[in-house]
Amino acid sequence: MATLVFWLLFLGFVAAFAAQVARRVWIIAAGPDNFSFDNLPFRIKRFVFDVVLQKRTIKERPLPGLMHALVFWGFVAFGGYTSVEFLRGLGIVDLTGTAWFHLYRLALVPFASAVLIGIVFLLVRRAFVRPIALGDHVSAESIVIALFIATLMVTFLVTFRLDERTTAGAVNWWVHMLVILAFLALIPASKHFHLVASPLTVFLKSPELGNLPNLDFEKEEVGLETLKDLKSKMRLDAFTCVECGRCQVNCPAWGAGKALNPKKIILQSQEALLAGDADKKLGAIYSEEVLWQCTTCGACENQCPVGIEHLPILIGSRRGLVSNGDAPDYLGAMYNQLERRSNIWGLGYDQRTKFVQSAALETFDPAKHDVMVWLGCAGSFDGDFQKSLRSLFEILRGRGIKFGVLAKEKCTGDPAKRTGNEYMFQELANANIESLKAAGPKKIVTSCPHCVKTIGNDYRKFGYEVEIVHSSVFVEELTRGLAASPGGPAVSTDGVERRVTFHDPCYLGRYAGKVDEPRALLTRFGADIAEPERNRDNPYCCGAGGGLLFADKEEEPGSRISDVRFKQLQATGANVVVTACPFCSIMLKGAQASAGSTGEATQFVDLMTFVKDRL
Ligand code: SF4
Ligand code: SF4
Repeated sequence: MATLVFWLLFLGFVAAFAAQVARRVWIIAAGPDNFSFDNLPFRIKRFVFDVVLQKRTIKERPLPGLMHALVFWGFVAFGGYTSVEFLRGLGIVDLTGTAWFHLYRLALVPFASAVLIGIVFLLVRRAFVRPIALGDHVSAESIVIALFIATLMVTFLVTFRLDERTTAGAVNWWVHMLVILAFLALIPASKHFHLVASPLTVFLKSPELGNLPNLDFEKEEVGLETLKDLKSKMRLDAFTCVECGRCQVNCPAWGAGKALNPKKIILQSQEALLAGDADKKLGAIYSEEVLWQCTTCGACENQCPVGIEHLPILIGSRRGLVSNGDAPDYLGAMYNQLERRSNIWGLGYDQRTKFVQSAALETFDPAKHDVMVWLGCAGSFDGDFQKSLRSLFEILRGRGIKFGVLAKEKCTGDPAKRTGNEYMFQELANANIESLKAAGPKKIVTSCPHCVKTIGNDYRKFGYEVEIVHSSVFVEELTRGLAASPGGPAVSTDGVERRVTFHDPCYLGRYAGKVDEPRALLTRFGADIAEPERNRDNPYCCGAGGGLLFADKEEEPGSRISDVRFKQLQATGANVVVTACPFCSIMLKGAQASAGSTGEATQFVDLMTFVKDRL
């Protein structure tokens, strides 16, 4: 009789679980397929670190992350125990009397204790501490799930004290099994669906941060316009979100008080997919205003512990808007400049030519030169940044590196790509690739981190591969011997203080993962680094990316991202801010100007100039 009752309950709860999972699988499968399995070794490695070892979960929030990891590892360890108890309850086979099962049970005791500690910690944090990232209301479902998990552990530990043949022992067993079944039925409709989906999502996440595959215009692809355009991985992402808010608290736009909240974007996708209005415009789901607030800094995607990719949704939706002529006016002006003059400021090429001549730059020739230097829009036209490039040229010449530049460069297309103007991006990219192929460099050095990403990653999607490195990486290697030699470079007395702070550009620190090289250069040449809040591979954005360099400053809601960052840099107490990206430099200097007299003491120094002055 008991077996029959257990069978009925089992089938009922499993059917409830399966029906809800099937609905989600159906919705995911209905999207255009974009699951990818390229670069398997990388995916497997990331799976081991981020799923098995819970590295990403622990990294940013060490204590809550570790507590979550204890619960996860405990769950995995209990897999065999739960299966054996179900086989017994269903009357299939009883393995509970075997010697190995007794040993296994004993081995589970420390796991159960660890899960209990972990879940109580997480419950108290969620219900009473309530960090802002977890949302402004306590979800009843989370509390129920936490209590379920605690009950499971307690009812397991109690089995060591209770004889199963007694009524109390039998009740304890039934409570344990019913809680598992109820838990199963609750999973799919809650954020705990991540238990099922996240291993898959992490595995399927692109190895490239901010991966934006090219649109195929021959197939009339225009980007994401309506809900039905959301691709399979985007749909899987929507159902995987664990609502931890890591993306939210690391988003510079949200941090500066803007409406954009990457967590909300994912949850809005989930809600809309479940509601099933396939023709609903994405601009109406997320709000167009919000879609234009993203700097493409990549923090959300990089921080997410369950492999969710926000940028393909955000930029994909921008593509849809641009294809319908719905880009903001300030971008229309920038696109105009790109169209007419192939650079973001719309300046005449004679200015680049003058710079090339005045800096005595040769046209690249693979037979003569070791490397090509890519100037970028800022290097070609921005007087301030040209000083940085002159420093780089001086360092290269001083170290005997022969280099040349392209006779004519166009903008890499980064601002067009990140704002969703894929057509313009592809035009610029194809023109540059043609020139690069004709010139034939094996290695390119540039001082613009955005150019590193665009030429290094985006151009590869057209089949063009070249090694491109940021100048900080190249110069760090080039000057290594100097640091080692006795009597090497000393701190200069040029007025720049020894204590400096370094602002990691998002496209260098986060996208390219180059955080040690700039620091090695600074310390090698005598600086003491005062690290700002948000540094290395999780910097706070300067606010320029994703076309926001061109945004109408007066119309921006909330604070300016650059103002927030400038204050963080000032808070280090260092009066010297070292930058390594032309756009960071422009934004932060703008923030300094708006700070008025409180910003006056800050001095900005470009990394290449810092090094050159000390060589
Ligand atoms: S890329 Fe950066 S700015 Fe955009 S949503 Fe993510 S964290 Fe926010
Ligand atoms: S998208 Fe990722 S980081 Fe953001 S709340 Fe969801 S699970 Fe957390």
